[in-house]
Amino acid sequence: MNKPAEIRHHTVPMWIGGKAVAPAGRTGDVFNPATGEVAKKVGYADAKTVDAAVKAAAAAFPGWRDTPPLRRARAMQKFLALMQASQEEIAQLIVEEHGKTLPDAMGSVQRGIEVVEFACGIPHLLKGEYSENVGTGVDTHTLRQPVGVCAGITPFNFPAMVPLWMFPVAIACGNTFVLKPSEKVPSASIRMAELFREAGLPDGVLNVVHGDKEAVDAILVHPGIAAVSFVGSTPIARHIYETCARTGKRVQALGGAKNHAVVLPDADLEFAADALTGAAYGSAGERCMAISAVVAVGAAGDPLVRLLEKKARAIKIGPGTADGIDMGPLVTAQHRDKVAGYIAQGVKEGAKLLLDGRTQALPKDGFFLGTTLFDHVKPEMKIYQDEIFGPVLVVLRKNSLEEAIALVNANPYANGTAIFTESGGAARRFENEIQVGMVGVNVPIPVPVAFYSFGGWKNSLFGDLHVHGVEGVKFYTRTKVITRRWPHQDTPAPGFNMPTLG
Ligand code: NAD
Repeated sequence: MNKPAEIRHHTVPMWIGGKAVAPAGRTGDVFNPATGEVAKKVGYADAKTVDAAVKAAAAAFPGWRDTPPLRRARAMQKFLALMQASQEEIAQLIVEEHGKTLPDAMGSVQRGIEVVEFACGIPHLLKGEYSENVGTGVDTHTLRQPVGVCAGITPFNFPAMVPLWMFPVAIACGNTFVLKPSEKVPSASIRMAELFREAGLPDGVLNVVHGDKEAVDAILVHPGIAAVSFVGSTPIARHIYETCARTGKRVQALGGAKNHAVVLPDADLEFAADALTGAAYGSAGERCMAISAVVAVGAAGDPLVRLLEKKARAIKIGPGTADGIDMGPLVTAQHRDKVAGYIAQGVKEGAKLLLDGRTQALPKDGFFLGTTLFDHVKPEMKIYQDEIFGPVLVVLRKNSLEEAIALVNANPYANGTAIFTESGGAARRFENEIQVGMVGVNVPIPVPVAFYSFGGWKNSLFGDLHVHGVEGVKFYTRTKVITRRWPHQDTPAPGFNMPTLG
């Protein structure tokens, strides 16, 4: 006899005030993409649950704000050690809910752990400036203070890494935090909250609520939240940015992408094709820094396309837990069908289909789709214009570096890009003229390390400051400038003109 769903499926809890809270109200399914089965349920927070999390964060704020940065850093160091010890466990949770391969999930958790390492240096990062004697007997210094309760809203594709871009830096700066991870991949965030508590983080400093638009909109209008970090698709990023502007919150909203790789005829084409194959099809193309468009310049075109086709055909597709697998399934059946729809659209628009992901031999169950390669794609085609977010690579042909740069710069997205060349001069020109936030030279996925900041330009980021690194610290702190003198016998009489101190 089948047990009722609540018993058959474990229900992922919220995390509020330092403990797991069973969800009440609406729930959603969490799938195992490799089998297509509902593996778990997750509760969806309403405005009342969001309010409870914000209240817990607000209550914890005064004590955490006044905890010396060195002590905050010590909690971070313990969290770092626990994260390192739990890296594989968290990666397993990611594989179960997202579908990517275990080594890929391990790598993404590693990149997130590096942000925790960065946050351990917070005492140094919070140091202010000091100028002695800006006027006679007058000194000026700056303070960098936390902003209050911060919220993070994250996408499905990096269940641990993207939350780790946000909460370690915010919390190290003295803020408290409410995280709303993607409802498709809720478990990694709960595990990280448990580990942070084990590391000595006071209750209420980190809270996790799950849910969909209802939970997000409750966060955006909550008067107790001072700042919102968002990572997800461009239409939602725009909604987040506009709503936060209206409700007076500090906001950074990272959006979608169409990342181009420009390949010049002088490039090592074998090396470039290897790099691009991993960058296009790794994680089934569900990466905001995936290369989804190759711009082949001049004579690079035909030999490069031949290599890309050969390498894409050799990709091993299967469950992320199996050995020797390069690419797992897509996250949901709905998303797989959307990506397959783009392949049909590309054929209809007249692009040359060299490899069709819909017709390859694939595991029977689960949300699998094969690798797709289109050549002779034109800028007006939907398969070029839209972010497909799946294992589909499109190749466009251009005659010169100048034409390639113009194409990339005309695209509304501007997250990452790369150039493949042996020419220092061409690479330097590309670095200088390209209007994209993160640029690789013979590096296909130029995700900056934790002590630099991550973020795109144009429709790939709404807001001014990027995440983690020094810009992350700036986002989660406000500066205050103090001008100070101590009264003594030379103190001048009251003045009514604009003070000049020199
Ligand atoms: P998404 O925009 O659908 O969801 C992101 C978050 O917003 C989730 O937490 C979700 O619950 C919430 N959300 C969804 N619909 C909403 C709505 N109508 N109103 C309010 N909130 C809503 O994105 P996704 O599908 O989870 O992730 C894939 C997208 O994220 C891709 O576009 C990818 O490029 C982007 N992404 C960008 C970066 C970056 O750094 N720029 C990094 C990772 C992913």
